[in-house]
Amino acid sequence: MYDEIRDRSLFELATSYAQEFISTAFDRNVYPTEEALTNLNQFDEDIPQQPGDAKEILSFLHRHGSPAAVTQIGGRYFGFVNGSVVPAGLAAKNLAIYWDQNTAMQVLSPISSKLEQVVQRWLVQLLGLPADTVAGFVSGSSMANFCGLAAARYRILKNQDWELAEKGLFGAPKVRIVTCTQAHSTVLKAISLLGLGKGNIEWVDVDDEGRIIPEQIPPLDSQTILILQAGNVNSGAFDDFEQICRRAKDQGAWIHVDGAFGLWAAATQNLRHLTSGYQLADSWTVDGHKTLNTPYDSGIVLCADQEALVSALHMTGDYIVTGHDRDGMFFTPEMSRRARVVELWATLRYLGWQGVDELVQGLHERARQFTSALSDAEGFQVLNDVVFNQVLVSCASDELTDKVIAKVQELRTCWVGGSFWNGRRVIRISVCSWATTPEDVSRSADSFKEALAQVLRSNDHV
Ligand SMILES: *Cc1c(COP(=O)(O)O)cnc(C)c1O
Repeated sequence: MYDEIRDRSLFELATSYAQEFISTAFDRNVYPTEEALTNLNQFDEDIPQQPGDAKEILSFLHRHGSPAAVTQIGGRYFGFVNGSVVPAGLAAKNLAIYWDQNTAMQVLSPISSKLEQVVQRWLVQLLGLPADTVAGFVSGSSMANFCGLAAARYRILKNQDWELAEKGLFGAPKVRIVTCTQAHSTVLKAISLLGLGKGNIEWVDVDDEGRIIPEQIPPLDSQTILILQAGNVNSGAFDDFEQICRRAKDQGAWIHVDGAFGLWAAATQNLRHLTSGYQLADSWTVDGHKTLNTPYDSGIVLCADQEALVSALHMTGDYIVTGHDRDGMFFTPEMSRRARVVELWATLRYLGWQGVDELVQGLHERARQFTSALSDAEGFQVLNDVVFNQVLVSCASDELTDKVIAKVQELRTCWVGGSFWNGRRVIRISVCSWATTPEDVSRSADSFKEALAQVLRSNDHV
């Protein structure tokens, strides 16, 4: 294997395949063709008896893998809430892949430790969070929600002299959880993983845009975790932090904000108002891989109570060597972890304040463009108030909406998925890629119209 390390051609081959992929990714069909998908059965082989040839393996992967990759990095992928990649971040990730760092401890990777400290400081500034807020770099918002709520659970029990790590939850004082009926499913997953029990949630209704109704929040206390949203996963709506947070704080509750994609509004001039008041929270969740367009996987838990986060995730061992600065593993559930902070650092350093502002504002403007293009089109109706990057569209009936989604996916000009909104089936458009141009939006809106026309023409229309 030394030969393969010394002979650069293996890695050059990987780079050339990668460049071939990326040079077509922005123009080609967004979703893999049926042929490419069928071809995936090439991978259904038994594990070989003998060692193979590295270049042959790589070329096999490129031949059958690259065409089957979804090009969400392009400008016409609007499915789920999936970002593209800022080139500087992608390239930095490439370099760091060769470093193969383990970011558990400073002694294992001084560079990762340094960048985690730097990015933590930058995030606090960009997002306008309390000065002593700390960050844990995890795989995504699922994990970030888990960590933020783990910190909340720790703090609430600690305040009642209950040592959670030792005693566990059996016989523990009650921890109340208050959240809205449209909390993200990963929040609910975190609640169940943390042993808090979904059945214990005190549910609060939402308004037509999917915002928690402030007046319906029950009286809170110092045993309560209140979970709010900066960006409803369907509508993109933001809870009214201004109205809610001060009172919740005065009542002694722990406030957690799930801002997987929406938190970045706080880093803009024009959209910052959406997050106003959210600084009073105790923990926040945000992704790099959605709005900020870092490569996967990249999520961040932010916590104003360092002791709670670190204590909740604490581990020890005879061989642990604590550094004089930052040991990443004290801020995350994992011990070993790749240096995903590198992409965040490079992306933020490349974009700067202005670039982040323009990126996020651009997503909003493209979403607004979608809104007007489809509001003007016969047969489509935009159902939500487009405050951020999410647009919810329906056709005359649920059945027709579903058929149009399927047809849009089949046409492959763009990709969108479906959801339910206020009892109706909707096309869920999420504008998350820096690469989406006004022309991409027009082409995609045209594809929607074409899809509707084709469905209406076909025999099986409703
Ligand atoms: C995407 C999303 C999550 C989950 O984030 P992952 O990065 O996929 O783990 C949580 N909350 C909201 C609001 C989201 O949009």
